[in-house]
Amino acid sequence: MAFEGLSSRLQNVFGKLRGKGKVTEDDLNDAMREVRLALLEADVNFKVVKEFIAKVKEKALGQELQKSFTPGMVIIDIVNKELTELMGGTQSKLAKAGKPPTVIMMAGLQGAGKTTTSGKLALMLKKSSHKPLLVAGDIYRPAAIKQLQVVGSGIDVPVFTLGDQTSPVEIARQGVQHAKDNGLDYVIIDTAGRLHIDEALMEELKQIHEVTRPDEVLLVVDAMTGQEAVNVAQSFHDQLALTGVVLTKLDGDTRGGAALSVKAVTGCPIKFAATGEKIEPLEPFHPERMASRILG
Ligand code: GDP
Repeated sequence: MAFEGLSSRLQNVFGKLRGKGKVTEDDLNDAMREVRLALLEADVNFKVVKEFIAKVKEKALGQELQKSFTPGMVIIDIVNKELTELMGGTQSKLAKAGKPPTVIMMAGLQGAGKTTTSGKLALMLKKSSHKPLLVAGDIYRPAAIKQLQVVGSGIDVPVFTLGDQTSPVEIARQGVQHAKDNGLDYVIIDTAGRLHIDEALMEELKQIHEVTRPDEVLLVVDAMTGQEAVNVAQSFHDQLALTGVVLTKLDGDTRGGAALSVKAVTGCPIKFAATGEKIEPLEPFHPERMASRILG
């Protein structure tokens, strides 16, 4: 599972602190040095790590540790709160249009899990009594349309397609119209990805954005990409004004750096966390639960 390495290292550091009746400034510095290394090793962005450690230290020293009977616990509590803050603090909800349909645009690099996640999102919405529409906007990857159709039929959600000869911008536009005409209240637009960010892709995404005026632009990020995930998120954010991030493949043995850096670097909240290849309802991302899980 994700975060295993980080989790066991942090637990080790805090295990030493927990029992202490007295924590000196040297103890705190030692512990923070170890936390710093653990975070860097988990592939958390170095600037994020630096700020994180500075905040924890400042708060810990402000707490007058000498006066506490359980100073170790005070520090653990501060780290827990800061970790939660780092990942966005509170859970960030999916946007909802004042007037349906709510348009959700999915973006990301090829293979990040856009199509799979679109299906999971549609299923989540369907389970809460909504009527989603999936729009097949990836006309470049062979079999992408078919893949979305298979996903859609598996969960009994309609898929809008105009084949691979119409421009994705037009497909997206007509997809939203189709939802309006048929009383469907959420439109999920699956878009094309590339192996690397390129201008033609960004231009097309910007046009889709302009034409459909999405309520939500979700960047699908493969958590396994580590440090690079932050750069990808930043580039997409600069171009598209993302409203949220979905971290996928958290079931893999990712070191977790992406989850811990993406919000801090881009300011975009992580709205969902995805695990597994099967189409299960997408799970909202809970920063506080994730922090507690990491700290064990
Ligand atoms: P796209 O190119 O961004 O549309 O990516 P796909 O949805 O086609 O996913 C790429 C691969 O990653 C597929 O083999 C998916 O089954 C797999 N995948 C997607 N999401 C997850 C996830 O959360 N966990 C795991 N383990 N695999 C995933």
